[in-house]
Amino acid sequence: MKAHDGMYIGGTWRPAATADTIAVVNPADEQVLAHVPAGTADDVDAAVRAARAAFPGWAATPPADRAARLATLRDVLAARQGEIAETVTAELGAPPKLAGTVHAGLPVLVAGSYAELAATYAFEEKVGNSTVLHEPIGVVGAITPWNYPLHQIVAKVAPALAAGCTVVLKPAEDTPLTAQLFAEALDEAGLPAGVFNLVTGLGPVAGQALAEHPDVDLVSFTGSTAVGRRIGATAGGAVKRVALELGGKSANVILPGADLARAVAVGIANVMSNSGQTCSAWTRMLVHTDQYDEAVALAAEAVAKYTPGDRLGPLVNARQQQRVRGYIEQGVAEGARLVAGGPEAPRETGYYVAPTVFADVTAEMTIAQEEIFGPVVSILRYEDEDDALRIANGTVYGLAGAVWGPQDEAVAFARRMDTGQVDINGGRFNPLAPFGGYKQSGVGRELGSHGLAEYLHTKSLQF
Ligand code: NAD
Repeated sequence: MKAHDGMYIGGTWRPAATADTIAVVNPADEQVLAHVPAGTADDVDAAVRAARAAFPGWAATPPADRAARLATLRDVLAARQGEIAETVTAELGAPPKLAGTVHAGLPVLVAGSYAELAATYAFEEKVGNSTVLHEPIGVVGAITPWNYPLHQIVAKVAPALAAGCTVVLKPAEDTPLTAQLFAEALDEAGLPAGVFNLVTGLGPVAGQALAEHPDVDLVSFTGSTAVGRRIGATAGGAVKRVALELGGKSANVILPGADLARAVAVGIANVMSNSGQTCSAWTRMLVHTDQYDEAVALAAEAVAKYTPGDRLGPLVNARQQQRVRGYIEQGVAEGARLVAGGPEAPRETGYYVAPTVFADVTAEMTIAQEEIFGPVVSILRYEDEDDALRIANGTVYGLAGAVWGPQDEAVAFARRMDTGQVDINGGRFNPLAPFGGYKQSGVGRELGSHGLAEYLHTKSLQF
């Protein structure tokens, strides 16, 4: 598969500081697809310098002109959707349909939303005798994960560019080819040199150098809570802004009176999509004791449709596959009941995990507390609404969730949940709604106007 052998810095593909490379592996067949350069602190420094040099010009570019660049980016991403989907399938293993609709489709929507927001956002407002200016923060260091390789990038870079910031991106080492395509798309969109820069490389090397660089004004990170905690501490030490999108352990709460069959089927689909590698996945299904057995039977039926190698893709790499299989073994060891799947790999080749459903899961079990990041659903039993709320809120995370039931009751329950997003009775994804976590799921919000505000700081002029 096509790959650049350099870094995109200052508007051109430049040789990397060293000859070290990272192999990109197709998780469905375990074959090496390509190699990309393994960036070092020197590459990061060159990229930050380019971003700093480009900042005054881009910050002074009228919002309407920034909007026009983003609209062109949206069009380029739309025109290259097929190529993007193929690349995501190759390096992440996403089934082609999911790659086309979600992985390649959603970034077009998000880029388009920021083209509109850049043109319409109130970058100045009146507050009494003051004029408040919302100004770009400066150079953004963006560090992204592999699970939605292009979406995670666009959810940071598009609002940063709309705000007038310049960016250095360090994408996940498992999915750098999609990031290279994104750099090509921005180049094709005519973005001025240095406004966006790409450094591929390992997290503890290039990622850490970016997070620690003194000339980066804001670090925006999406990934694991363990790494996010360190990045937050580093940013705190330097007194710089940080945005963290971290893990999740979301609850799918099915209240009595819900359409049980639909709630279970949509809940299973929500977790199986992207092989469970979704931070907001509803991995804990909470069912009233009177409907518990019926829900378990429906879940076992629903999950049978997810054949590994067809509707269910592999996990991204061997390490994640081992990790998830380890969690399944731990669930069994702690006394949960397997009703589908299990720890055995369902295919000889590829990093596949069997679609797995556990019943008789209790709130304190490891599989009900820790993020598994694989195709594993735990079904928990509750006695009444207070019990359900205690279980739903009883983890360190608070990223997303779902409630099913009579509308008023479902909304009342959702108001009591400690979480950043709740879908009521299968509510549709909204690319303009703020996305982000309560508790250890993160700091800050992405998407829509709330996501744009993360890249701005304010100055008040008094008259
Ligand atoms: P990860 O934290 O290992 O890696 C994320 C990114 O950080 C990668 O680009 C990686 O190279 C980089 N990185 C790793 N170590 C670093 C360091 N010491 N300094 C700087 N950068 C470093 O996570 P992952 O395995 O890529 O992704 C899976 C995790 O991400 C899951 O826990 C998932 O919940 C979380 N996630 C959260 C969201 C969200 O929006 N909240 C979205 C996607 C993934």
